[in-house]
Amino acid sequence: MSIKLEKKVEKQLDLLTSTQIIIKEALTKLGYTEEMYELLKEPLRMLTVRIPVRMDDGTVKIFTGYRAQHNDAVGPTKGGIRFHPEVTEEEVKALSMWMSLKCGIVDLPYGGGKGGIVCDPREMSMGELERLSRGYVRAISQIVGPTKDIPAPDVFTNSQVMAWMMDEYSRIREYDSPGFITGKPIVLGGSHGREKATAQGVVINIEEAAKKRGISIEGSRVVVQGFGNAGSYLAKFMHDLGAKVIGISDAYGALFDPNGLDIDYLLDRRDSFGTVTKLFKNTITNQELLELDCDILVPAAVSNQITAENAPNIKASIVVEAANGPTTLEATKILTDRGILLVPDVLASAGGVTVSYFEWVQNNQGYYWSEEEVNEKLRKTLIQAFNNVYEMAGLRRVNMRLAAYMVGIRKMAEASRFRGWV
Ligand code: GLU
Repeated sequence: MSIKLEKKVEKQLDLLTSTQIIIKEALTKLGYTEEMYELLKEPLRMLTVRIPVRMDDGTVKIFTGYRAQHNDAVGPTKGGIRFHPEVTEEEVKALSMWMSLKCGIVDLPYGGGKGGIVCDPREMSMGELERLSRGYVRAISQIVGPTKDIPAPDVFTNSQVMAWMMDEYSRIREYDSPGFITGKPIVLGGSHGREKATAQGVVINIEEAAKKRGISIEGSRVVVQGFGNAGSYLAKFMHDLGAKVIGISDAYGALFDPNGLDIDYLLDRRDSFGTVTKLFKNTITNQELLELDCDILVPAAVSNQITAENAPNIKASIVVEAANGPTTLEATKILTDRGILLVPDVLASAGGVTVSYFEWVQNNQGYYWSEEEVNEKLRKTLIQAFNNVYEMAGLRRVNMRLAAYMVGIRKMAEASRFRGWV
């Protein structure tokens, strides 16, 4: 078969289709019927809303928003809300399914959900963002709630947005509802450790992967693509553990220094959207960054970055996906065949939702934990999750992505079967 044809087929796959392909493979390997796949191949519920917002110049703009709920056989659905100009219905559906997988992998009592609003928060004022956030909650309030579907932050949303949304929901219900949403500011019932949880979880996965490959973190060369919430904290944690962070990037370019970058300085200079490279003259491209000679590569930006085209040139021996969907299906195969240990997104980035779960538990019991307690529980959960997936990969002779899907989907499939849905 010609390479050209493979590339063409690969380009046609959107996130939803590639997710469905692996879910089908995972269910088949686990011995489930076609009916189970039919149930799980799309969200059970998908709500599209249109939100009118009074802009600062007096005009009214109508924004489109989505909330997808994949499957609630295990428990309420859970997952973030992203604000991004490129949000699509298909993407939100796929992301809700990934949340199901993440929750299954770390064994939380949740199914997956996801929300998104088509907007560009970089161009909006605080007042406009607040009115949009509140409008979205009013539009989806019927289908969400602490025992139904619990939102959280995602791309370009933060604890301030969560605070507005929690306040709006509490006003609608006429009682204080901290358990409606996670990722809140600490003073409103947020959890210690939530903000850094995604990066913390990625570090734990890197440590476990490095153990398997006999690599010592201290002195290892690390490249991080993306300098947002996950990427910037991750670069800092790796730097503090003694690794040499030789490359980082944002949406506009990448920085490289073979002797290690000054991460503290870069953190200090980044803006709230993770932009920092604009301040420098000597930059390389994001593509050059991915192919740098390093030990550990962490794509922590957007999807479809490692493709069939550049996968043969990746030099890292461990690739840990902190972003959602950074590696295509073809590229996964190429990396795995080349002996590179790939820690898939649904496992590597599960730290965020894990601490969100801890936040929700604390809200429900009204008793709050210390940061040490949260971090200890997070570490235990993720070490277990990594090793479950690693063992599944070895036992069933499948790559880490398929293994993660198998571990992630089986509880949901079992719960659906016990409920008599299939
Ligand atoms: N948006 C994050 C994720 O994709 C966190 C979701 C949550 O905390 O519920 O995993």
